Amino acid sequence: MRGIVGEGMSENVVESLKYLVVKVLAGDFVTLHALKEYLLDGESPSVLSHKYRIGKFKLRGYIQRVIEKAGNYRVAQYVVKTSYGTLCSLTPIVIRVPGGYYCTVCDKVLTMNPERHVRLEHKDVVNKVISDCIRIAKRSKS
Ligand SMILES: [Zn+2]
Repeated sequence: MRGIVGEGMSENVVESLKYLVVKVLAGDFVTLHALKEYLLDGESPSVLSHKYRIGKFKLRGYIQRVIEKAGNYRVAQYVVKTSYGTLCSLTPIVIRVPGGYYCTVCDKVLTMNPERHVRLEHKDVVNKVISDCIRIAKRSKS
């Protein structure tokens, strides 16, 4: 993990990125969009909860989680701002199928939570996306 954390890139950045990357690879773009609109566009949780049909408490939980991992609000904003484009263009590796989830990499129907599956079984993919995001973030800073 430490290898991809260059100068100025803290563990917090990596941890909050990982949280977002796992969600997107598991097929959840809604949380990413909602977090972006909350953190960058200043949209209120109640509006977003209605727009994306996420429970208000659930959404507040996601927001809290990503800020906690980032360490503070400003780092969370930075992470979402610099990674949003990359994350939006990702192709999820898990897709929804009738009755559950299917992993396109393992070629099987999942018996566990899709995010947990991605986090545990596809660390290489997750880390690759994280380092792509960090590379892009560094470039945009200079
Ligand atoms: Zn898999």
